[in-house]
Amino acid sequence: MSTLKMSYLAVALQLLSQCRSFVLPAQCCCCGRHGLSLCAGCKRRLHALPAAPLRTLLPTPAGPPLRVYSAAVYSGAPQKLLVHFKHGDTPQHAALLAPPLRRTLVTALQELTRQAPRKAEFVVVPLPSRTSRVRQRGYDHLTLLLQRAGLNPARLVPALRATAGRQGQVGLSAAARRANAALLTLRGRDTPRLRGKQIILVDDVCTTGASLLAAQQTLHQAGFTVAAAVTLCVALRRDNPPPAKPSCLTPLSQ
Ligand SMILES: [Zn+2]
Repeated sequence: MSTLKMSYLAVALQLLSQCRSFVLPAQCCCCGRHGLSLCAGCKRRLHALPAAPLRTLLPTPAGPPLRVYSAAVYSGAPQKLLVHFKHGDTPQHAALLAPPLRRTLVTALQELTRQAPRKAEFVVVPLPSRTSRVRQRGYDHLTLLLQRAGLNPARLVPALRATAGRQGQVGLSAAARRANAALLTLRGRDTPRLRGKQIILVDDVCTTGASLLAAQQTLHQAGFTVAAAVTLCVALRRDNPPPAKPSCLTPLSQ
């Protein structure tokens, strides 16, 4: 085929792909039903998430366990929407995922404030994404979620950074997850904002807890205090529970 014919073909294919979204009905990213990109039923299921957060404890190598507050179990509509939000170039889903995250953050903050010494100040430190993923996605999904959740920008301190070699956690063995999660460092320019503050870590999912624990350790070793963690979802891993006791799914006793 001549170069000219090939370029006509390329233009035609591009036009066709642009027209597809007008011609073909969209599919719900949660249940696959034709219609809207998120159907009314799945939207309702997201709005119907329980108001009270799920509570888990992560055992730490030294010191008290890390408290984790989560908005939903990692399954069904929340899981599918979150996966789409992270991998499907759909920043608009932040509008649906932000309210449950906000509710969970507010509850955590209220409880921690009651239990903390007077005048304790809390800041939020999100778990970092790899720079290449953020570039690929076009947005930092956790920062976007926290902004949509209405977090005061003065409380948002992106003090953690993923170091070279860090990869996605999906598909890694438990030991590889821990080693990979530990590829974290502190951003020097943000650490002054952590001094004297109580830190709430924020992540999208708590699966084995390796990422949250690595973040807690990195901050702890630098002399900072992590009060708790908040995640949008928590994975139920009955088939493959973490070896340490109490496990990621041990409910808080209080
Ligand atoms: Zn649906």
